[in-house]
Order: sequence, then C-alpha cells, then structure tokens
Amino acid sequence: MNQNDLNGSPPARRKPVRSAASRERSRTLKLLLLIALVLALWALAIVGIVNLLKKDRTPQPVPAEVTTAAATPDETLPPEDTAPSTSAPDKNGLLFETKEVSASGIYRGDLILVNRDHAYRFEENRETKIISLYTFWREWPAYSYKLQSSELQLADFICTRMSEMFDAFLAETGDNSYLITSGWRSYEEQVETVAEMIAKYGSEEEAMKYTAPPGYSEHHTGMAFDTYIFVKDGDKTATYKPGAADMPPLYNWIYENCARFGFIKRYDEEKSGITGYSGESWHFRYVGKPHAALIAEKNFCLEEYLDFLREYTYRNYLEYTDPEGAKYAIYYEKVENETVVTPAVTDAAGTEVAPPVIGDRFPDRVALRLPQGVPCEISGDNVSGFIITVKLS
Ligand SMILES: [Zn+2]
Repeated sequence: MNQNDLNGSPPARRKPVRSAASRERSRTLKLLLLIALVLALWALAIVGIVNLLKKDRTPQPVPAEVTTAAATPDETLPPEDTAPSTSAPDKNGLLFETKEVSASGIYRGDLILVNRDHAYRFEENRETKIISLYTFWREWPAYSYKLQSSELQLADFICTRMSEMFDAFLAETGDNSYLITSGWRSYEEQVETVAEMIAKYGSEEEAMKYTAPPGYSEHHTGMAFDTYIFVKDGDKTATYKPGAADMPPLYNWIYENCARFGFIKRYDEEKSGITGYSGESWHFRYVGKPHAALIAEKNFCLEEYLDFLREYTYRNYLEYTDPEGAKYAIYYEKVENETVVTPAVTDAAGTEVAPPVIGDRFPDRVALRLPQGVPCEISGDNVSGFIITVKLS
C-alpha cells in the first residue's frame, strides 16, 4: 500500500497508445455515423411534413345520409376548434364560424320544451307579442274558423300561421267549423284553471292529470291553441270533440295537414308516459317548419324529437327533405353549465346564517357554430342548448 492509496487518490490512468492508422479509421467511422445521423433526421423530417400535408388535405368527415343515419354523439371541443374554420365548405356548401349569442336564448324560440319538468320563462320571453285573436280574426279576410270567446289571445305570428292553416282547410273543403276554445294563458289564468279543474275533478292529484301547474303550461308560450268543432247547419248545431268516435271524418284534416303549417298534435295517448299528459286530441302546438313534418314522420312527441336532435352536431348534422321538397340541415349546440358558488351569508357578528350554495348556471354569453353567410333559424330548447335550422334548398 503506498502513500497515494492512503490519501484515497486514484492511481493515474495510463492513456492507451494508438497508431496513426487506427486514429484515421476512427475519424472515418465518426464521419460516416454523422452522415447517417443527418440522413436519418432528414428522412424523419420529410415523413413528418408529408403527414402534415396529408392531414390538411384530408376532407372533413362527410355527414352521414339523413334520417336513418346513426348520429355522432355530441363532443366537447378543444378551444382551437371553436375558431373560424379555414377548411373548405362541405358538400352542401356550408362552412361554420363561431358567433356569440346570449345564453338566455335557450329559453326562447319555436322549439322550446314546456312540460311538467320545464317551466316557461316569462322573463326571457317578455318581447313575445301576445295579441287579441278576436281583433286579428275580425281583420283577417277569410272567415275560415270560429272563436269561442272574444277574450282569446295568441302570439302575433301564431295568429297568422293558424289562420293560414284554416284558410287552406276552407279552400280545400268549403268548411269552417273549427272552433278555437283556448289560446294564450297568463300565469294568473293558469292558477284559475287549476282551481277550476280541482273543483271539477275533486282533488288536486286528479286535476293535475289534465292540467299543468301554473308556469308549466304550454299555453303560456302563446304558441299553443285548443280547438273543437262546431257545425251549424241551418238551425241545427253540433259540437264535436276532435278525434272522438262521433266526429265526422272530414275533421281528421287537421291531423293530416297541420304539419304543413308548422303545427303538431302535442299530446298523444300513447306518449302519455313521456309527455306527462293523457291524449289531448284538441291541443296543437307550433314548432315551425320543417320540424312539424319530421315529428309527424317519425311519430315522435316533442320530448323525443328534442332528444333525437341532440345527437346531431354541426359536424354531423341531420339532413332532411320535407314533403314539399325543401332541404334542411339541422343540428344541436349544447351549452355547458358553469358551477356557481354563492358565498355563505353571515350576520353582523360573523355567524353563518346560510351555508354557501353550489349550483349550476349557464354563462351569460355562449359561442355557437353557425353557417357562414347563410341565414339560419336558432331556437332554444328551454333545457340545455340551441337547435340550428339551415334551409339548404
Ligand atoms: Zn291546450
């Protein structure tokens, strides 16, 4: 053991002695390796670029052919996907861009769902113009239907659509016996209606099978009406309940034709488990074109129809050609809720008097994917988003 070892220093290393030829070989080898490395990097870069180009040229997935197509479930898109699209227009010439709208629009529009679970939002619909149907009817040129009361009211555009429908009935049959018995109802009127129904049926439970709690009636929208049939022949008169066994078959006309004017028979007996109402063969609701035709074709109630539409996104929209040959693109834009925490309430002494509340609400503004430069109709569903309807041809 020498002194060096005791100090813990390692023994000096001896450098290997190499010949000049060996050094030359090593240098050549290094050079070759370097060239190989550079070539490999080039090859990788080229493959990468080709892949990128391929990706850019890959066409957008073509939406599956219409009504029978299986729909793609909605998806949450990363932020970059909400930027204006720079890809080519699709086969229908549609190119989508992002536009901001007020989220309160969820509660407005032809397709809002108002039922026992979803209240009508009076506040969000205060601009809906409710007018006297009697005044409108007196000024409407054709005497194509009758009114049970001069107090009846409806949304202004529904007065027009409904009158156009009965004008067609009069033109096709020479008859004008449909009798409008109910139209728009205020919250207060629904309170009265419920009281009357409880008196009639003997209990609130029984009454609620036939009427909606205040705030939850479709009549609040101004887009629903009830009709009976009042036939006057000389001195003889007869009143029929639509769909009743004794009703003359002529009056099936409304069921066969209402979709042409944007109306649906809202409550079918066979759908009562979904709608929450027994069949109401006299109650019609406006949902607009082409939705009324599609609902009738599919034999959906409005609840089922909205569930069906919620499966279609702007990337894979529903294409529908209505019975009149007009072609539409229809899709759903879901609005994500945000969680809102309302802080706890404390009194002057700092004692908590109400706990913090965690709830969901929609943001004030939402971004929708809408077709660029093409008019479209936007309707809320009164639940969680918007239905976009684009007329293609
Ligand atoms: Zn009704």
